[in-house]
Amino acid sequence: MSEFIEDSPFPDSPVMPNLMTGDATIQFECHKGISCFNACCKNIDISLTPYDILRLKKRLNMSSGDFLVKYTFPYEMDQDGMAGVKFKPVEGGTACQFMTEEGCGVYEDRPTSCRYYPIALLSMRKQNEYTEREAYALVQEDHCKGHLEPRKLTINEYRKEQGVAEYDELASGWRQLILKKKSAGPTVGKPSKQSLQLFFIACYDLDRFREFVTSPSFNEVYLLEDDLKQQIATDDVALMQFAFRLLRQVLFNEVTIDTKAEALDIRLARKKEREAQLDEIAAKVGSVDEFRADPNDKYGIKD
Ligand code: SF4
Ligand code: SF4
Repeated sequence: MSEFIEDSPFPDSPVMPNLMTGDATIQFECHKGISCFNACCKNIDISLTPYDILRLKKRLNMSSGDFLVKYTFPYEMDQDGMAGVKFKPVEGGTACQFMTEEGCGVYEDRPTSCRYYPIALLSMRKQNEYTEREAYALVQEDHCKGHLEPRKLTINEYRKEQGVAEYDELASGWRQLILKKKSAGPTVGKPSKQSLQLFFIACYDLDRFREFVTSPSFNEVYLLEDDLKQQIATDDVALMQFAFRLLRQVLFNEVTIDTKAEALDIRLARKKEREAQLDEIAAKVGSVDEFRADPNDKYGIKD
């Protein structure tokens, strides 16, 4: 596979001139003694994935709702109002609320964008392709002196160093939803206000989503196995993955969760099938009985 991908959506951009694969080599290093230390955190525009929020709220021991209010603001990712969430900078300024003199105050749980910088992750999906393609682009901003450092490494090596694999894997369900919505365009129609609200809560406000999916009203509609119920009641990652599954069902009709009505239909169909089998067996048993009772009569060979 070539290191560079030909059909760049940014052919003339000075910031992202080429799309690259993970094998491409970059020259970059960021370290504490560098002259621009913290410069990138002083003027932020950082979008968060659901997994970023999950990690940060856990680290800060906050509910997702409190985290969203204190550290983020919502924005619209597309013309239909699908919501994304960005970091809210410090009051009256542009710096990240987690920036300290020593560097990032949440380093071990820093979001995906901070880990990737100065690489941009681009997920693309063409209308006639089912699977997404991932590509990378280099972000070169004047304030960032890391590009002048001599170290060379591939993007894959940089991703490993920054620990992004787990972040990418756990956000892929969310990325697929966004891509699918974008690539489907008007064919899926504009989501209802309720679906958009559900998208926000399910993706970003996990604690509220847990209240919703463990409520009696949810369980009146959806049929969940006991194991799954247990997982989503106690495990945030399982809850988040269930959220993406539910959203695929609600937004794109990709049904993977039985509803009670469907469950009833399935049970009725199985009952009918069982009854038909019993009828068939009964018919056979009946003919044997008849044969045993009066074999001559059965075959029309009466004396
Ligand atoms: S989370 Fe950390 S690395 Fe990211 S912008 Fe804030 S201070 Fe910088
Ligand atoms: S080298 Fe770039 S990423 Fe590192 S602190 Fe400086 S501006 Fe930020």
